[in-house]
Amino acid sequence: NRSDATSGVGLPMTERGIAARPKQSLGQNFLVDPNMIRQITAAFVDAVEQAEEVCQDGDSKQSTGRNVVEIGPGFAALSQLLVRRFPEMLGLEIDQRAVAHLNEFLPEFNVVRQDVLETDWKALASERAVGANSGKLYVIGNLPYNIISQILFSLIESCEAVDFAMLMMQLEVAQRVAAPKNSKAYGILSVMCQLYTEPKILFQVPPSVFRPKPDVTSAMVILKFRDKCNPRLDQVDPNHLRQVVRESFQQRRKQLRNSLRLTMSQVGVTELSERWASRRPQELDPEEFIDLTYDLFGPVS
Ligand code: SAM
Repeated sequence: NRSDATSGVGLPMTERGIAARPKQSLGQNFLVDPNMIRQITAAFVDAVEQAEEVCQDGDSKQSTGRNVVEIGPGFAALSQLLVRRFPEMLGLEIDQRAVAHLNEFLPEFNVVRQDVLETDWKALASERAVGANSGKLYVIGNLPYNIISQILFSLIESCEAVDFAMLMMQLEVAQRVAAPKNSKAYGILSVMCQLYTEPKILFQVPPSVFRPKPDVTSAMVILKFRDKCNPRLDQVDPNHLRQVVRESFQQRRKQLRNSLRLTMSQVGVTELSERWASRRPQELDPEEFIDLTYDLFGPVS
């Protein structure tokens, strides 16, 4: 039982509960440090208030959180605090044991059993974000590291449905998300995240605040989705864009004229134009990948 350790933050973890048998396959490293839990929830509340420009002093227009979605609430380390501020928030949790536990110990929290990878973010936004200031979702999650890229890509695919996402991830992945061009960490995640969002690493999170402790240092990252993405994004097919970025970085030391051979033969281009031919992918700004895709595939049909 870890309730003493968290002094009122998070739900009691009974020995018969999932704390006794965390599932590694579901990335169940639970937050147990009250200071870190407070720091994360405070950062999230700040971000919502910034998004809605609502002052903190009990303004009656404060959001009730119908558009707040938590991915993988587990034992409600975060949700137990968040639900006080956002009583209508929604939790998506895949583990039925956790859902049952939450229903018993935190009945005011609306949590459903769901695989977040099957979530239709656009449908969720049109169902839940109606009338909310932004009409978009505010997403928070301390989630399994092995599905973080998939989640980022699924949020990007539904970028118009999301205002911001505040996500815990491995520090090394956070650094890739935020990496500037020409740096070692700059790659597919950097380009895709930076085209659709403004990512910012908020703070690092040490292994000691979790139980069980993960092997790696983590970081809390906020990705603020752009109101207006680069208008040229509308002129290319997002699948083509992703293909070009992926193929370019698959052999990051090679010049684009060599690394893009497959796509070039697919679209019947024998020579890349001078603008691209001898450059390497890490030298391109995220926006330049739109131009590159456009030059290869032409306008979206
Ligand atoms: N938020 C809690 C905390 O901070 O202590 C739990 C975090 S734990 C790292 C990740 C949580 O995500 C677990 O509760 C796990 O069951 C849940 N989870 C894993 N895969 C999921 C999926 N595909 N969809 C929804 N929840 C998932």
